[in-house]
Amino acid sequence: MSKVKNELLYPDFTNTEIAFKNKSDKDLRETKKLFQLMNNGQLVDIGSGLAKFALKLKLPFVQPIMKRTIFKQFCGGVNLMDCQDVIDHLHANQTLTVLDYGAEAKTAEEDLDAAAEELFSAVEFAASNNSVPVVVSKLTALVDNNLLIKKQHKHPLSDAETTLYNKFLKRITDACARAYELGVSIFIDAEESWMQDAMDDIVSDLMKTFNQDKVTVYNTYQMYRHDKLEQLRSDYLNAHTGGYKIGAKLVRGAYMDKERERAKEKGYPSPIQPDKASTDRDYNEALLFCLDRYEEIAFCNATHNLESVELLVSEIIKRKIPRDHPHVNFCQLQGMSDYITFNLAQAKFNVAKYVVYGPVRDVVEYLIRRAEENTAVTGEMSRELKLISSEAKRRRLG
Ligand SMILES: Cc1cc2nc3c(=O)[nH]c(=O)nc-3n(C[C@H](O)[C@H](O)[C@H](O)COP(=O)(O)OP(=O)(O)OC[C@H]3O[C@@H](n4cnc5c(N)ncnc54)[C@H](O)[C@@H]3O)c2cc1C
Repeated sequence: MSKVKNELLYPDFTNTEIAFKNKSDKDLRETKKLFQLMNNGQLVDIGSGLAKFALKLKLPFVQPIMKRTIFKQFCGGVNLMDCQDVIDHLHANQTLTVLDYGAEAKTAEEDLDAAAEELFSAVEFAASNNSVPVVVSKLTALVDNNLLIKKQHKHPLSDAETTLYNKFLKRITDACARAYELGVSIFIDAEESWMQDAMDDIVSDLMKTFNQDKVTVYNTYQMYRHDKLEQLRSDYLNAHTGGYKIGAKLVRGAYMDKERERAKEKGYPSPIQPDKASTDRDYNEALLFCLDRYEEIAFCNATHNLESVELLVSEIIKRKIPRDHPHVNFCQLQGMSDYITFNLAQAKFNVAKYVVYGPVRDVVEYLIRRAEENTAVTGEMSRELKLISSEAKRRRLG
């Protein structure tokens, strides 16, 4: 049962009826089957390898199977138009959509131009759609990543490389300018540390230009890095003295194993926190840092961690901050943690789903990351599977 606090409902995160109210019994059974399969780590390892291999060989049956199962669970569609059903469905449940074109890094200039065009189209699509306030950009999809690495290490670029790099800067600047003009925001994703400093410099410049009177550009802060809380503080000070606003998407970080392995292999100190507790501590401190300055920092609590969600919920209520203040937001990935999203929405907090879209072969890496995240570490049921099973039981579906 929900408790009434400050006249508005306090979200009840144990309410699986609200979490899964949009799933028919048939959908719920199918979702349960999928999460049961993903629960098995060995199966996910084998399945991931096979899927990549089969897509490379262009085996005809693979894409349709993926599309009906894992793609349907975690993605919005193969293109923008195809996402409309998911957007409408979220809107009907008081949930906003953040659109994310899921193609991973490429190097050919025509692919980079195509990714920039897709971003531009997504901005325009969002502007015409009341419940899509934000689109996502991965800077690594707009430039040959070797150039970012060179920039990060302050290695000089040749004339030809400088031309390509300037083309990249124009791609992202034009998209932000269009977003500013149309009142859409852009979340810039955080990626691997060996390119992140170079990307942070670019995002800081974009914030200076486009966050003067409103927040158009958001950087992403990965709190599994031991230096990111400090960076958030110094970015805020720079913005405060520079007269512009900070947009901050807070995440824990997705590339921990890769980061640690690379640091070990190349013999430099790992940029990752020593343990999970340190990541959690900095994450929650970053949340409170942003909330303390919410008039100047627009932020997004992008997490599936219930403790971090409840921390922000209780602080918003305690401080009597309007739940619909445009600077205070929550976000989860499509297909995950519906118990958080829809219970937050029911209690009138600003909440959105990150909806990834794109051709199946282009989003396969993203789908594999989602499958890996949903395997059980200790042989028990994953968190999602437990919730789905408890709703199936409530409905007496067996
Ligand atoms: C809307 C949204 C947008 C996102 N955008 C990005 C993005 O732009 N860039 C990005 O990198 N990720 C992004 N992510 C993924 C995110 O970084 C996490 O990988 C994922 O959300 C799991 O973390 P959590 O906060 O949900 O909670 P939890 O499940 O509580 O935390 C798991 C996370 O804790 C950290 N962790 C786990 N073990 C340890 C350890 N031993 N030592 C130190 N840290 C540890 C890792 O970051 C791990 O992913 C996004 C997630 C969401 C929901």
